[in-house]
Amino acid sequence: MNLVSGTPIKVLHNGSIHGHPRADTIVLERDRIRMIGRADELPLSLSESEGTEHIDLKGRFVLPGFIDAHIHLLHTGLVESGWRIGLMNLSRAEVLAELAQAAKERSGEWTVGYGWDESQWQDRCYLTRTELDKISPRSPVLAIRMDGHLMTANSRAMEQIPETAPEDLIEREAGLLREKAVTEMTGSIRPDHAAAVEGLDAAARLCHRLGITTVHTMTPFDYFEAFMARRQQRKLRITICPDIQSFDKLLAVGLKTGTGDTWLRFGGIKMFADGSIGAGNAAVSQPYIDGGLGELNHADAVLECWVETADRAGWQTVIHAIGDRAIEQVLRTHEGLQTNTSLRHRIEHFELPQESQLARVKKAGLHLSMQPNFTANWSGPDSMYVDRLGVDRDRLSNPLRLIHDADIPLAFGSDGMPPSPLYGLHGAIHGAYPGQRLTIEEAIACYTMAGARFGFEEDEKGCLQAGKLADLVVLDQDPQLNPEHMSQRSIEMTFVGGDLVYSSDDEA
Ligand SMILES: [Zn+2]
Repeated sequence: MNLVSGTPIKVLHNGSIHGHPRADTIVLERDRIRMIGRADELPLSLSESEGTEHIDLKGRFVLPGFIDAHIHLLHTGLVESGWRIGLMNLSRAEVLAELAQAAKERSGEWTVGYGWDESQWQDRCYLTRTELDKISPRSPVLAIRMDGHLMTANSRAMEQIPETAPEDLIEREAGLLREKAVTEMTGSIRPDHAAAVEGLDAAARLCHRLGITTVHTMTPFDYFEAFMARRQQRKLRITICPDIQSFDKLLAVGLKTGTGDTWLRFGGIKMFADGSIGAGNAAVSQPYIDGGLGELNHADAVLECWVETADRAGWQTVIHAIGDRAIEQVLRTHEGLQTNTSLRHRIEHFELPQESQLARVKKAGLHLSMQPNFTANWSGPDSMYVDRLGVDRDRLSNPLRLIHDADIPLAFGSDGMPPSPLYGLHGAIHGAYPGQRLTIEEAIACYTMAGARFGFEEDEKGCLQAGKLADLVVLDQDPQLNPEHMSQRSIEMTFVGGDLVYSSDDEA
């Protein structure tokens, strides 16, 4: 199959089309969906016209392209391109072996690994400075935990911690850095423009293989140039949610949510109210099993000032809040300011809400961006949530069912852990507890139409309809037929703007 195609019309026939039970054909004209219907109803001008390309779907199933509403595209891409060492799904010994090998190859230069997760290991202990010293006594090594809120550094790397990293977020003996200490440290070891562009290209190719056609990425504004370079050639639609640190710069030049085009645009402004459960610093109201209530990153007045500025300037806010105490802070901020509901202000993750907070979320018009892969990764018997919080709070975590039934806008993303929508859909329908489960149809809507709404793009994408962007994904089978086997579904083709950007045939 030819991946590069200049033909204006594509007729995809002999398939099932999501949302159109009678149809077997979808016609794409340039970058839009032209019509959806039955092959025998197609006007001759479409089916027989010169330059029309016919693609046999062989009974497979067409969905709108997936929208990952929360990913860190550059992180994902830097691992994908090899600039960072991928440590996901590896045992402790494998992580150390990977880092040892990389440090050897980079002799003297930095080695930065990403993605270890001690909750999948038998001993459930963080990586330590001593372990990293053993594998690399001379070259600096950093190993970022999967959630990005914590990292381990070896002694050589500890010597080079920037002065801007807050001392209270560093455990020198163990080699652990948290939150702002992590960002200050990684911020000092930056990919150059070429490496960032290469990383984004690699991330786009990965997205195509996974059926993702749009991402909302949490990325510092500093890398905007790399996003601009090749933004059309990359064939991935990107909504960038820049970090609050660059807010003054953005405001000064008059940028706001929605500025941009169908390839690259601005989403909301990103802030962090707390940390993560895995790193033990999400702000909770009842202590962790090991003690402690986690940490709010900012005083009320600081968050209030940011949200108020954003709200008045037409910026959507995108606030990371995981523990119920952080959720409470975000809620009282919006309630106090009576923020503009038409800006669709967002809360990210929302893993540990109290049930009583849901009605307030609804009333304040807030939108929830959640990650069903988190429940697949960390909830249920013998899981990280149970370790940190106990069974009762685990059972109440990620209450997708309650949120959906309360009619609160809910979109799905992956946070890159891992970035697969099929894995996320599996998590959403097979949650460990009934309160965490959606039907497959509800979950698909969260991974498609809801993401479009969160990005103010519901008129352009999110469902299969004539006139919308021709961003679609072809699955081997309708997941509704065998939802219990969701994890066995495969991505067969991905189209972005009418172009075939991935085909499993080419992989064979
Ligand atoms: Zn994130």
